[in-house]
This record gives sequence, C-alpha cells and structure tokens, in this order.
Amino acid sequence: MTSPAKTIRTRFAPSPTGYLHVGGARTALYCWAYARHFGGQFILRIEDTDLERSTPEAVQAILDGMAWLGLDPDEGPFYQMQRMDRYREVIGQMLATGSAYYCYCTPAELDAMREEQRARGLKPRYDGRWRPENIQRKQLQPPEGVKPVVRFRNPDSGLVSWEDGVKGRIAISNEELDDLIIARGDGTPTYNFCVVVDDMDMRISHVIRGDDHINNTPRQINILKALGATVPEYAHLPMIHGPDGEKLSKRHGAVSVMQYHEDGYLPEALLNYLARLGWSHGNDEIFSMQQLQEWFTLEHCSKSAAQFDFEKLKWLNNHYLRQKPGDQLAEMIAPRVREEGFSISKGPALPLVCELLKDRAHTLNDLAEEVAMFYIEPPLASAELTEKMQSGVPELVTAFLAALPQEWTAAELSAAMKAVLAQAGMKMPMLAMPLRLMLMGRTDTPSIDKVMAVLGREVVVRRIQERLGQ
Ligand code: GLU
Repeated sequence: MTSPAKTIRTRFAPSPTGYLHVGGARTALYCWAYARHFGGQFILRIEDTDLERSTPEAVQAILDGMAWLGLDPDEGPFYQMQRMDRYREVIGQMLATGSAYYCYCTPAELDAMREEQRARGLKPRYDGRWRPENIQRKQLQPPEGVKPVVRFRNPDSGLVSWEDGVKGRIAISNEELDDLIIARGDGTPTYNFCVVVDDMDMRISHVIRGDDHINNTPRQINILKALGATVPEYAHLPMIHGPDGEKLSKRHGAVSVMQYHEDGYLPEALLNYLARLGWSHGNDEIFSMQQLQEWFTLEHCSKSAAQFDFEKLKWLNNHYLRQKPGDQLAEMIAPRVREEGFSISKGPALPLVCELLKDRAHTLNDLAEEVAMFYIEPPLASAELTEKMQSGVPELVTAFLAALPQEWTAAELSAAMKAVLAQAGMKMPMLAMPLRLMLMGRTDTPSIDKVMAVLGREVVVRRIQERLGQ
C-alpha cells in the first residue's frame, strides 16, 4: 500500500503593523496558490504579539486586503495573543525536559559579557552561563529580585540545514547560534518561539515567506527538533525592489494593497501582477487565478529580488478593465465619479460611456475622470475650433448634418461621414476633428462615430447647430 501523500498546509502569518504590504500580499498569494495546487489548506495567522505596533485597525487592514484580493483562508484567522496559554504550556514542557532553562543575567551583565568578548576579538554572544550544567558546576544561586528569562538550549555543535524550496540548500553551524530567549522576564513568549509552536500545532507543511526571515529559520528548526515536531519545508522568497533597485517602500508609491484599491486597480490585475513578480510560467503574462492554481509550484520562483514595475501593473489593469462589461464598470466607478459641475443622471447612460472609454483607462479612477467629457457642455467657441473651421469645413459639417442616418449607430454614422467626405473630396480629419471639438470640446476623444452614437441624435444635432451659429 502506498502511503498517503502529505497534506499540504501553508500559512500566511502577517504581523499587523499598519497595512497589507504588496510584499506580504505576494507571500499570501504564493501560500494560497501552493496549497490550492496540491489540494491542501491555506491558513491565516495574525502575529499580533507586538503590543506596541499591533492595533485592531492594522488587523482589520490585513483582513480587508485579503478579502479584497479574494485570498480566503481555509482556516483562521488565528491570533497569537489568544494562544498565550499554549505557549506557556510548551515553555513549561521545555523547562521540564531540559531543552530550555532560566537565565538570570541582568542587562548590565550581558553588556559586560559582550564588551569582554568584543575586546577579545570574538563575536558577541550569550555564553551559556546559566545552562543547567554550569549552575551545578559553579554552584550558582539565582540572584534575588531578578526575573529570569527562559532560554532555548541550542545544540553546541553540528549543522542545521534545510533544502530551501527557492534558495536551495542552506546550512548554518550551530556555533553561530546562541541560546535564544524564548520567554521574557515577564513570562511573555518571544517572536521566534510563537512561530515555532504555531507551525507545529497548525501542522504546517510548507513555510513560504520573505527571505528577511531566513536568519530565523535555523533557530526555528532547532526548537522544532527539540520539541520532537516534524520540521516543515521552507521556501524563502526574495524581496521586492522598487524601480530604482532599492527595497520597495512608500517612497516608490503605493505599497499598501488597499491603496491600489483606492487608486482604482482591480484585484485580478494586482493578483496577476504579483503572481508574475517573482514567479513565471513560460512566457505567460496574463493568467487567471484558476491557471495560477494549476501551474504554481516553487520551482519557477525566482532566486533574485523582483523589481516592481508600475507601468506593467497599469498595463495589466487596463487589460482587466477592458474585459469588464460597461454596466459593471459603471457600478464600480459610480462612487468615484466626482460630479463637479455636471451630473451623470443627465446625459448618456453611464454603462455606454464606460464601454466606450474603458480601452483608454488604466485605472477605475482614470475612467471616473474621463467620463466627465460626456456630461460637460463643450464651449460654444474656441481658438482651436475656429482654426479647424477653415474653408470648406463649415459646408462639410452642414452636409453631414443633412446626411445624418436614420439608424443611430456608430456604423451608420461612420458611413454617413465617409459619404459626405467622398462627395467633397476631403479626408477624414477635415470632418472628424471639427466634430470632436464641436461635440466634446477636445480632440482626444474615442472614435467620433462611436462618440456620436453614445451622445444621441438630439445632442449631436443641437451642439453642431449651435456651433455653426444656426
Ligand atoms: N510575522 C512575520 C512578518 O510579518 C512573518 C513570520 C513568518 O512568516 O514566519 O514578517
């Protein structure tokens, strides 16, 4: 009988310190895609033990960001602050089995220890003076009034190594690692320790996270081993840099996922962009979340830092905007349209306008701004229009007015334009440009036949007549 395949369980474990960063969102996405690919579970764990920095608002910002992206966890959110008893329990077990011990060093003593080591040209590290064997050997007595910390008894020799799913084999000598504090003097567990207990209890099979955590991994593996837990697979993702090659930060523009939402990006565009940022599937640039699930494994994750390309994200967003029908876009932009000096309830139907303008928009905000051109009455006269009304043009426009089609469609309007131009022996811009200025007050509009189809016969006729002085 073959043994059942290991259940894949990944987790995204953000520390809520402000917002969901695009780097965090990418990690979450890869964890999600990895679990989905193998039919496993994706777990959300909120690492909220840093009481100074974790706020309910910051937790909500993460939940909102995940929900907006549609990265729904199969389990969780679990909150570390709600697991304190469990951490204490494990610390008690470790103290009992001797894999952890109380250390009574005061800060002043630790400073002196480091000072002395530096003076001897050594790397500063805790010297293990309160290890149980030293207590016995030196007959140490716990000093009065010092609340001890609890330290993990790290192995003294050998290597701690793992086959990183992204970076390949990594090995660290245990001599490099000193005895990590796992509980502070007030009894609260420390960061690395909570991560270990959670990864163990939550039966995480794959820890996929940013490579800023790579230094924590050997410590976490040692503690897991001391607890007799199964060590998960680790995969460390390279950082995301800005276009200038520096670590992505606010300086480069939006780093918060919800800022992209506010700026008018679609979740599918940001997901597609983040998926491709640090992972590839041949030359595919545009793919759905379904395809990502099918394709995503760690093999094709990049080993080097990714560079955030705002232009490419805009291009993708435009692609996804173009996929949306006008009525959906109209709904999405309605709260974003700032009706200053115009009203969208008077004029063409917003879905029609969205359908026409979506190709040109990079964001929903662009679209919300652009629609204004359909609801604002253009000026009666302008220098630009006067210039275009050169000899023969007013007659041409008049002829077009007389040739307006019965059936008010872009195709019929285009045919009518072509017919009057052929008659006059003139070229398309001679008619299209003045019409754009008369009807929209600008020359950068979509194709004018389509614009007229949306504006409607009445508005088209009135605006042209008024501007011809008729
Ligand atoms: N809480 C950590 C962070 O937000 C992640 C910890 C982990 O993935 O192990 O950076």
